[in-house]
Amino acid sequence: MRIGFIGLGNMGGPMAANLAKAGHEVAGFDLAAPCPEGVTTAASAAAAAKGAEVVITMLPNGEILRAVAAEVIPAMRAGAVFLDCSTVDVDSARAVAAQANEAGLGALDAPVSGGVGGAQAGTLTFMVGGDAAAFETARPLFEVMGAKAVHCGPSGNGQAAKICNNMILGATMAVTCEAFALADKLGLDRQAMFDVVSTSSGQSWSMNTYCPAPGIGPKSPADNDYKPGFAADLMLKDLRLSQQAAEAADADTPMGARALELYVQFVEQEDGEGRDFSALLPRFAARGRG
Ligand code: NAD
Repeated sequence: MRIGFIGLGNMGGPMAANLAKAGHEVAGFDLAAPCPEGVTTAASAAAAAKGAEVVITMLPNGEILRAVAAEVIPAMRAGAVFLDCSTVDVDSARAVAAQANEAGLGALDAPVSGGVGGAQAGTLTFMVGGDAAAFETARPLFEVMGAKAVHCGPSGNGQAAKICNNMILGATMAVTCEAFALADKLGLDRQAMFDVVSTSSGQSWSMNTYCPAPGIGPKSPADNDYKPGFAADLMLKDLRLSQQAAEAADADTPMGARALELYVQFVEQEDGEGRDFSALLPRFAARGRG
């Protein structure tokens, strides 16, 4: 397939490289990052999009996505698919999809989970919103870049699935970390805590797969001095998006709201920036109730 790829950063770079490695013809554009091996450098976003059957974007936020889409959509050929893999607000995803549909294009919002490791290994999970025909066009590309693609319904639903998942993750990691810190103060050994909770009703991905306590459970960023992994700053971004969506949809999300407050404090006022999101454990362990 001929593919235009815009946004070749930590995630987009390896995703574009995997598509090229699989034999697709990829033209890439980024304001700063270099094109990875096998990807042809285009002079602009519109030039990367010209003649492509699928244009993929992997950008920092909804505002940038809207600006890039406004430039790229008029340059795309009829019947092509605009495939955004960034994590953005639901409103931006729906606005860009509507603009693409009006121009006679297919549109998909397909945010990912799996992080930079998943992007490099081609094992991302895609959560996809948009029409079925566009999903079928993009399916072979999802198979190269990822291990799983779930079609979640119409435009915006991929972003909805992503922020709901990450709201659960943010709140669950926070309570797992505070429970470890409480266990410490009660004199309960961390290994015993893990052995009980990971096989009891308190179990979760945060405890069982990504345990925030160093030296306990499977290897995780806690065993690497809390280097990310999944950075607390990115969790903060996703929690903000979830609360923005909850506000717009009039949904009552008190746990998500509290998780957002915690990550704001951790990243913006404490030492959380650039650390893994599970580094809330040493934070709680060093504090009392005051
Ligand atoms: P990044 O900052 O490394 O990459 C973004 C790239 O977009 C940069 O190279 C930047 O130069 C480029 N860019 C910005 N404006 C542009 C424009 N107008 N035209 C062309 N290029 C432009 O970020 P990332 O970690 O690759 O994340 C990308 C998206 O994926 C974000 O929405 C993020 O939330 C999401 N995401 C990231 C991770 C992760 O672990 N890094 C995991 C899941 C989802």
